[in-house]
Amino acid sequence: MGVDYRPETICIQSGWKPKKGEPRVLPIYQSTTFKYDNSDQMGRLFDLEDAGYFYTRLQNPTNDAVAAKITELEGGIAGMLTSSGQAANYYAIFNICEAGDHFICSNSIYGGTFNLFGTTMKKQGISCTFINPDASDEEIEAAFLPNTKALFAETISNPSLVVLDIERFANIAHRHGVPLIVDNTFPTPINCRPIAWGADIVTHSTTKYMDGHAMSVGGAIIDSGNFDWMAHKDKFPGLTTPDESYHGIVYAEKFGKMAFIQKATAQLMRDLGSIQSPQNAFLLNVGLETLHLRMPRHCDNAQKVAEYLEKHEKVAWVNYAGLPDNKYYGLAKKYMPNGTCGVISFGLKGGRDVSVAFMDKLKLAAIVTHVADARTCVLHPASHTHRQMTDEQLMEAGVAPDLIRFSVGIENVKDIIDDLEQALAAI
Ligand SMILES: *Cc1c(COP(=O)(O)O)cnc(C)c1O
Repeated sequence: MGVDYRPETICIQSGWKPKKGEPRVLPIYQSTTFKYDNSDQMGRLFDLEDAGYFYTRLQNPTNDAVAAKITELEGGIAGMLTSSGQAANYYAIFNICEAGDHFICSNSIYGGTFNLFGTTMKKQGISCTFINPDASDEEIEAAFLPNTKALFAETISNPSLVVLDIERFANIAHRHGVPLIVDNTFPTPINCRPIAWGADIVTHSTTKYMDGHAMSVGGAIIDSGNFDWMAHKDKFPGLTTPDESYHGIVYAEKFGKMAFIQKATAQLMRDLGSIQSPQNAFLLNVGLETLHLRMPRHCDNAQKVAEYLEKHEKVAWVNYAGLPDNKYYGLAKKYMPNGTCGVISFGLKGGRDVSVAFMDKLKLAAIVTHVADARTCVLHPASHTHRQMTDEQLMEAGVAPDLIRFSVGIENVKDIIDDLEQALAAI
């Protein structure tokens, strides 16, 4: 566009750029297919000779406008939407790993991602080694194998709230000739832009703060364009050798810096079809327009709630990187000087049973699986999202059995604290 707008302006103005006489607001292209004047025009699309729309399973203009906005927010070169955050993380890995390959992942990650990487992808012949994100460089580097293709972590882990040392992880990945893939769901690009710190690929569950209203499940993948696939030709044959399903196209040659997203769209989306519906993309775009207003409010409210809980006699511990005595305070200040996110976790004196009893007393904060939207909500991971994990796996993943995940919304913070106060008094 020629002008580098600031994030607030990108949230509002980027993506959909209407031309003369076109709708001011991003339209929902509720169409599976797109019309051409002659057979040759369409043939060229199928050969990837021309860019254009032909079938919504591959690309849709509504989705592309929203993906372009998120790409600009993250400072990437290309991006795509997916049907969910799960699909985004699956595609990001599967785009460069095939049966027989291996990748390395922080063990402090979302439970769904843990199951996908550790169990489901294993059945497809792709193995994952989980490492402690706070381990030394040497310990992490010991996990690299000749067939390792990526390093993966969350900027702020859900629900353990570990803050990633992005630069350190990027350096480790690059020393071993693989990309760093970062799930940036919790901070959003308003609070952190991992690409600026060396991450190569960024993923999102847009279901969370980006949508922000708990309306639609979705995901996104953004590529920085910085990883040089051709420099590691043997490691990434999917990008650097001919794709027989596209007349022998070599993505990294034909599309250069755009190769990663081109392949994920032309090949993975074509074959696996985890497209976001244009309706959901429209709702996501409405959410994105206020992301820059909501994130600071989430952070302010969470800070006050964390400070309140920390002083309460019935509270055993509080984990929020905005508290000066938090283990990740320094990293958070470096990577997210304006705040981390609205999610905090804590445990109550008396342990697991007291934590569960307390949650049942909350009135404003609703018990839902969801996290990170406008309404304050609460969850007990050991009983819910992380139910499939053993106690040992829970501790390894930094999810204490008594951990309450409290997602602070953008209501008046006094009402949120009053709700906590009455629930704490009742136990
Ligand atoms: C929720 C979440 C996911 C999964 O996203 P869905 O949209 O629910 O599929 C992935 N990563 C993180 C960090 C999440 O919080």
